[in-house]
Amino acid sequence: MKKLIGIILSAVMVMSLAACGGASQGTAQPGILVMATNAEFPPYEYHEGSRIVGIDAEIAAAIAEKMGCELVIEDIAFDSIIPEVVSAKADMGMAGMTVTEDRMQNVDFSTTYAVARQVVIVAEGSGITSLADLEGRVIGVQQGTTGDIYATDEFGDDFIERYSKGMEAVQALVQGKIDAVIIDNEPARVFVSENPGLIILDEAYADEEYAIAVRKGNTALLEAINNALEELKNDGTLDEIVSRYISTE
Ligand code: GLN
Repeated sequence: MKKLIGIILSAVMVMSLAACGGASQGTAQPGILVMATNAEFPPYEYHEGSRIVGIDAEIAAAIAEKMGCELVIEDIAFDSIIPEVVSAKADMGMAGMTVTEDRMQNVDFSTTYAVARQVVIVAEGSGITSLADLEGRVIGVQQGTTGDIYATDEFGDDFIERYSKGMEAVQALVQGKIDAVIIDNEPARVFVSENPGLIILDEAYADEEYAIAVRKGNTALLEAINNALEELKNDGTLDEIVSRYISTE
C-alpha cells in the first residue's frame, strides 16, 4: 500500500513538473514556470522599483497559481523571447505578443487574452494627420515588434529607425529626430500621457491579438495555460486585472 502511494505521489509530482513547463525540468528548482518577457511595455509589463508588474505579469501569476507552479519572470530583449522559448530556456513568452503567421512557424500560441492595435504617435502640429501622411517620413519602432515588421514591409528599411525600447523611440520623437512612432495602443497611451506635445492618430495602423507563446509541441503546458486562461476569463479575474491597469474613460 505504501509503495502504491509512493508511486502515485511520484506520478503526481512528475505530472505537475511537466505542467510547470519544460524549462524548469532538470533544474534544482522543480515546479517553476519561467516566463520570458520584455518589461518595457506598460501597462502589460514594466518595472516598478525592483519588481516587474503589469497586466501580463499578473495574469501569468494567476495562471501559475492555478497550475501550482512558482512563477519566475525573465526580462530580456523582445526579439529574444521566441528564441528562448524555442530553446526551452523559458517555458512561455508573454509580452503583449501579437499572434502572427510567421511566429506560428516557430511557437504555439495559447488562446488570445487581449485585443490590441498598432497606432501612430506624432508630435502635435506636425502636419501628419493620417496614415497616408507617413509616406517619406522616418518612423520609429521597437525592434522585432509587429510595428517594426509591418512598417518595414510597407515603407522600406530606409524609413525605419529601430530602438530596443518603445520609450526610446518616443524620446527620439520628442527630440525631433524622427517623425512618428508605430507602437501598440496601450503603451502608446502611457507614453503620450508622460510626454506632453504628442498625440495618437485616430486612424489605427493594424488590429491584432495577444497570446502566450510556448515551445512547439509542448501540448501539456499549452493545455494547462489554456485551461487556466479559460477559468480566469470566466471567473472575472482577467477583467479585474485589466481594469486595474487600463481605465476605460
Ligand atoms: N504586440 C507587439 C508584437 O507582438 C509588440 C509587443 C512588445 O513590444 N512587447 O510585436
